[in-house]
Amino acid sequence: MYQSFIGLEVHIHLLTKTKVFCACRSAFGDEPNTNVCPVCMGYPGVLPSLNLEAMRMGCTVARALNCRIPEKTWFERKQYFYPDMPKNYQISQFGSPLGQEGYVMLEGRNIKKQVRIKECHLEEDAGKMIHTGTVSLLDYNRAGVSLLEIVTEPDMETGEEAELFIQQLRRTVRYLGVCDGNMEEGSLRADANVSINLPGKGLGKKVEIKNLNSSRFVRLGLNYEIKRQGDLLDQAKTVTQETRLWNENRDQTEPMRTKENAQDYRYFPEPDLPVFTPDKAFLTSVEAALVELPAPRMKRFEQDYGLNREQAELICDEKALADYFEEAVAAAKAQGLDTRDGAGRIANWVLTDIKHILGREGLSSIGSFRLKPQWLATLVVMVARGQVSMKNGKQAMDRVIAEDREPEALIREAGWEQLSDPVQIGKVVEAVYRAEAAVFVQAQAARAEGNQKRQRSLSAYLVGRVLEQTGGRADPKIVGAQIELLIQTP
Ligand code: ADP
Ligand code: MG
Ligand code: ZN
Repeated sequence: MYQSFIGLEVHIHLLTKTKVFCACRSAFGDEPNTNVCPVCMGYPGVLPSLNLEAMRMGCTVARALNCRIPEKTWFERKQYFYPDMPKNYQISQFGSPLGQEGYVMLEGRNIKKQVRIKECHLEEDAGKMIHTGTVSLLDYNRAGVSLLEIVTEPDMETGEEAELFIQQLRRTVRYLGVCDGNMEEGSLRADANVSINLPGKGLGKKVEIKNLNSSRFVRLGLNYEIKRQGDLLDQAKTVTQETRLWNENRDQTEPMRTKENAQDYRYFPEPDLPVFTPDKAFLTSVEAALVELPAPRMKRFEQDYGLNREQAELICDEKALADYFEEAVAAAKAQGLDTRDGAGRIANWVLTDIKHILGREGLSSIGSFRLKPQWLATLVVMVARGQVSMKNGKQAMDRVIAEDREPEALIREAGWEQLSDPVQIGKVVEAVYRAEAAVFVQAQAARAEGNQKRQRSLSAYLVGRVLEQTGGRADPKIVGAQIELLIQTP
């Protein structure tokens, strides 16, 4: 068998309001060629100036990936010609990128390994080419948009690991609020490099799969390549060093261009941009932007709230959801519920009913959800205390959302408070006892015969009748005990 090596180059669009070296609006989906100016159109003689917000966001990602921010960082011109790049060079970083020598821990099902980050560098995106029939159209709205490239060392071995890397990174940059992570719109895209070799022989000849716009394609493309390259070596053939593309209709990679040698981009320092020396205030603002990241947060949720791995992962997938959860847990605790008890209950509500409602209402994030975390806490506490049945509690939640009002009064007005007074329940049980005398006799007979299954189903029926009579308000535990007593002692 062969050893495989995978290194990723991931590009993310930073959520800066303006482009990286000019004041043009940075937005997806605007009318083509409306967000352009002489700077990003590459007119001669204009001066780029650095968007400090882009630098800060880039450095924040670098720090989240455990990279070192160098004392000085600067920009180079990377020269090449392509119609989507009107300057004929791209301003990028080469000699001293803003983030260097970091690492991340990949952690997932059956995967646990460290992946070294080679560097993070800030650059400008190119425009967009649209090919229609015999003409090609160019939209320069994207030219000059802030792009951060994250480059890993070739430390991954399988398509699954690379897929997990992309998923973790996507979650991280969304947590940091620096990228929307939308792979379909191209806000996060990856080039995947892969080679194989005999064990112990080091890196092989690398193939680059370009422009993967889904983490699934990253996995599929890489696993396809590992197999393809293995077949070639098995037949004593050699792997050509080249760039390939993933064809999602044929589920295979296909050659795009062969790169004999590394291209010579004639990098040289961008003369129009000064060297950037991060000062103390800048570095402090970077550290301040580092929120608790998804991985440690998941661990904390498991430890402090007693959630299982899957619950923690689902809740921590999105920062807003994790924040919402923690606010609800804190509110339930303030109302006297034990933290872990509350957390377990709230996790269940969030991951079933609330996810369902969000889906039904077409809300992609909990940010704009009308059910305040405090209100969810009140509902959960009332159920935990037996003040409202689970069923009525869930029904109340729908009304709370529809009417946008606090649950306690709503439950009282609707008459949904749980009935737990044994005397009051006893009266209803007695009425059912009279109306369903025949069933009681059958249940007693089943008990005498030792037919537990039949006895249970008959008593469940009787409990159901009592609940029905009380509009679902009677505490089923108390009802059950009273019915049982009547069956045992006729
Ligand atoms: P290039 O100069 O061709 O862009 P780099 O050294 O910048 O190459 O590496 C680009 C990416 O390719 C990095 O993520 C790196 O880890 C990966 N890579 C480099 N060499 C190999 C190899 N032989 N096999 C697999 N991945 C590789
Ligand atoms: Mg490279
Ligand atoms: Zn511009």
